[in-house]
Amino acid sequence: MARRSPSVLTVQGLPRKLTSRAGAFEPRQNSNIPHVGQYDPLMTGRPKEARSREQPKQSVSRRKLMTLTGVGTLGGLTVLAGAKLAPWWTDRSPQGNGTAWTGPVETGASPAPPSPTANATGALPPRQEIINQYGARTPHYWGLHPENSWSTFPTDTPLARDSVCLTFDACSDSSGYDERLIDTLRAHRVPATLFVNQRWATSHRREFESLVADPLFEIGNHGTNHRPLSVTGRTAYGIAGTKSVGEVYDEIAGMHTWMATNYDLQPQFFRPGTAHADNVATEVSRAMGEWIVMFSVNGDSGATASANQVYEQFLRLRPGGILLAHFNRPGSETAAGVERALPVLIGRGLRFRRLDDVLPAAASPAQPPRW
Ligand SMILES: [Zn+2]
Repeated sequence: MARRSPSVLTVQGLPRKLTSRAGAFEPRQNSNIPHVGQYDPLMTGRPKEARSREQPKQSVSRRKLMTLTGVGTLGGLTVLAGAKLAPWWTDRSPQGNGTAWTGPVETGASPAPPSPTANATGALPPRQEIINQYGARTPHYWGLHPENSWSTFPTDTPLARDSVCLTFDACSDSSGYDERLIDTLRAHRVPATLFVNQRWATSHRREFESLVADPLFEIGNHGTNHRPLSVTGRTAYGIAGTKSVGEVYDEIAGMHTWMATNYDLQPQFFRPGTAHADNVATEVSRAMGEWIVMFSVNGDSGATASANQVYEQFLRLRPGGILLAHFNRPGSETAAGVERALPVLIGRGLRFRRLDDVLPAAASPAQPPRW
């Protein structure tokens, strides 16, 4: 089952089992997080040549950005014109304004998200039921931090106030498997949540099964076709999103069902392709039993960042932060940056946890989350 024993890395590097998941979680309302501009946190996971063919106009935007930010090596980056700073340079985690964290982070209460309709055994609600419930809704938000998604996690419990989550995506292409990165996590016994797209999983079955078998890792749902999650056909970075509630359902359900059928896995968390979603799609995902999880720190800019940049981004992590990077680009410098950063973060006393350690599990309607 996907619900494996949570693990945590202590400062001394000695893994131990968590003995309690107790604590009154407070939801973090992502609509409160400033939208600093749009950028591509993970690109599309496709080769640059393919992207340039499909998105010829975006190379201009990237050059503009590089001029503004002085990070010219980030060739795969897309940011809207007018951004004064590279938005990934800002840690949006609760305590992301300093160079080192010094204490607990306070998070505010927010309205309750809808209770899930997925049942306790993890079976998905019927497609038509979801369409009937959400099909008439009109979204008012499109982007990286929609309501009812998580970009940080609550840190008002002893369990999590000194912890961060590392998440690594494997996108839709078959570009590869970053063995060096995964081996680095294993060597340091650092838990992580891995968001895997179905196309990647089916083209990397051996590697996928190795990750599934490793209790260090939690497997999240990164979609069936790696599409931005829209109910109205919005696009992100030139990538066409889903066009309806039914297509949102299919994007989530395809990989969910594949994981359940082949590996008896029950993903609790979903990250859409390009990390874009609207606020109706997040509710649909929640109703299907999967929280949408975005990020507060962009660790590798779609696996295009240099090792130094990856290192510096990782060092911006604060308690409550969720970092996004990629493990499907073995030719990138992500692993080199991670190798340098992890000992520093461990030295700071940060603990690494999987998302299922710090975010509440999907619950049955009879036992909704405390919020
Ligand atoms: Zn992706």
